[in-house]
Amino acid sequence: MVAKDGYITMLHGAGGTVMHDLVKNYVVKHFVGAAPNIAEISLEAMDDAAVVDDIVFKSDSHAVKPIFFPGGDIGRLAVSGTVNDVSVLGAEPFALACGFVLEEGLLFSDFERILLSMRQACEEAGVNIVTGDTKVVEKGVLGGCVMNVSGIGRRTPALEHNIAVVKRYRSDFSARWILDSNLRAGDKIILSGTIGDHGVAVLSAQEGLKFGSEIKSDVKPLNRVIQRLLGSVGGVVAMKDATRGGLADALHEFAEKSKVGILIREDKVPIRNDVRAACEMLGLDPLEIGNEGKIIVGVVREKAQEVQNFLNSTVEGKDAQIIGEATSDFVGVAMQTAVGGKRIIARPVGDPVPRIC
Ligand code: MG
Repeated sequence: MVAKDGYITMLHGAGGTVMHDLVKNYVVKHFVGAAPNIAEISLEAMDDAAVVDDIVFKSDSHAVKPIFFPGGDIGRLAVSGTVNDVSVLGAEPFALACGFVLEEGLLFSDFERILLSMRQACEEAGVNIVTGDTKVVEKGVLGGCVMNVSGIGRRTPALEHNIAVVKRYRSDFSARWILDSNLRAGDKIILSGTIGDHGVAVLSAQEGLKFGSEIKSDVKPLNRVIQRLLGSVGGVVAMKDATRGGLADALHEFAEKSKVGILIREDKVPIRNDVRAACEMLGLDPLEIGNEGKIIVGVVREKAQEVQNFLNSTVEGKDAQIIGEATSDFVGVAMQTAVGGKRIIARPVGDPVPRIC
């Protein structure tokens, strides 16, 4: 009999501890050291993107099921996902590459709908797809198509301004990029908006469920709002898009890499009522569900209110809240509950919604 851990399962793609272990113990282990390291931020950092020769570089595959869901589709997801991963290091994406694997039987009308949606996302982000590849496989389990979008980004005056602001409050700050490992005790944690929308929207499309008013995915490119934030306010030290594994997984990434504890307040975490009700009905924790248009921002405490105010003035961040702070009082992630207790937020094993992105 094959041991249960002897092969890849759906959980290995679900963004939690199981996927992190797979990437670390297999992918990183075999790829690191193949040639002399020239990366400033390398594969081993397992951040949202790498930095090579002062260029931020990211590749992201998408296998969402179904390929169309309320509020978006696989194409918008692929462009936004890569744009956002480049952007959260503080860079401005300036070119994308797209590789399609199309399944025999995909309708031209559906393919064109995806392409138009990608074009729309590229227009919103202000970036072009400049190269790519197309393959076709026999009809089977792809559900229409899967795709990969890679992207490159560069430093901007807005990032330089942001770092100068951080240094005003933290003289020992030496990072050149916005990294998961940059948080220090006392930094505030800001969430840019409601969580769980994307995961519940995809799940409703997968299962044919209706949750009263239709819940739509939040999928969108965030590079423009991030650059404006860095250029006009600043003080941001760490940033992540809260994708697979949701807020809980992203906070654990911060805590582990920065070697701090993170305490959040339940009553400050914005969740739509219909998303909360859907999660309760399905037994899902909204903290563990993926999002595609929300960022978590770690900011020096002196600039936290200004960052929240700026985000609240934008469409993308109108519901932004300061949800907590980094602390040296404990390790890991904990939440002050609405009724006054404290509960440990465990790192998710994997996102509860399969093939979410
Ligand atoms: Mg990311």
